Amino acid sequence: MPRLRSMLGTLPAYVPGRTVPGAIKLASNETPYPPLPHVLDRIADAARGVNRYPDNHASALTDALAAKFGVAAGQIAVGCGSVSLCTQLVQAVADADDEIVYAWRSFEAYPIIAAVSGASSVQVPLRDHVQDLDAMVASINAKTRLIIVCNPNNPTGTVVRRDELVAFLRRVPEDVVVALDEAYREFVTDPDVPDGLGLLDAHPNLVVLRTFSKAYGLAGLRVGYAVAGDPAVAAALRQTQVPFAVSTIAQEAALASLEPEAETQLMARVADVVAERGRVYRALVEMGYEVPPSEANFVWLPLGGATAEWAAACEQRGVIVRAFAGQGARVTIGSVDENDRFLAAARALA
Ligand code: PMP
Repeated sequence: MPRLRSMLGTLPAYVPGRTVPGAIKLASNETPYPPLPHVLDRIADAARGVNRYPDNHASALTDALAAKFGVAAGQIAVGCGSVSLCTQLVQAVADADDEIVYAWRSFEAYPIIAAVSGASSVQVPLRDHVQDLDAMVASINAKTRLIIVCNPNNPTGTVVRRDELVAFLRRVPEDVVVALDEAYREFVTDPDVPDGLGLLDAHPNLVVLRTFSKAYGLAGLRVGYAVAGDPAVAAALRQTQVPFAVSTIAQEAALASLEPEAETQLMARVADVVAERGRVYRALVEMGYEVPPSEANFVWLPLGGATAEWAAACEQRGVIVRAFAGQGARVTIGSVDENDRFLAAARALA
């Protein structure tokens, strides 16, 4: 028998949203739109060069992001999706038995990343579906190396706002890294939710994680980035990366997506998703569902013990949602037609 780490036996499985022929998939927080034609052209061009390795440091993309956000290139690390950067960050900060603090429930990759690294997870319960920053600060001890704040939070869609986030950052010791996972930042419309990048100057222990997977519609290409208050953190992320993790095609597609015309079109799509989020939210509330207000491209239905059966009934009606048994269901905002189909299912099951 090959000898594997015993930890694997206790590892929660990452459950990807399922794809079922004939059904619509509202389970992975993807965008419903196809790639922009001009991005597809750049992907095809880049494909001609794939006999060569990619630029290991994604220099052109790093420079474009630095220019866009007005930060130094040395503060940026590009990665194979932001989930990879989160993994690299844990590897960069935590030795075995060090502690990683995050809310629960939050993004399901966090406990897996922590467990594989050998660090311990400290899961701080949500309060009314919102991350409890006071309780997260209270959980800090000499072993705490990283606190992850997911804003908006996956799967609840709820946010922490500027005042509480700044007060929280002031209370976290300077040698504890705070990762602000802003995978859904582009969908935020509440002006009181801060852009994490604006907090970096005052908080060198802060690192913001972003992705091209959601608003930019490149989930299948795997590219994300981190912007760190302290360049030492970005350098550590480059040290812990798998060599050549971000393909040439992904780098080129991300670069093409940052061009002003592409960004205008992509952000118009985001605005449409946000409008649909409002429509779906209001319809669900009218049907009698409890739905925490969402600032992301999905909504959360805390159905508790009814979740698994409700999600299975949605599937019978041709709609795949992401169920967290015993807790709730997360439903991605899709196209108008997809949302209509989901709302019809939800109405039948209300
Ligand atoms: N963070 C959060 C909160 C997410 O929900 C996701 C995607 N499900 C990610 C990170 C990972 O995104 P990426 O595709 O960039 O790895």
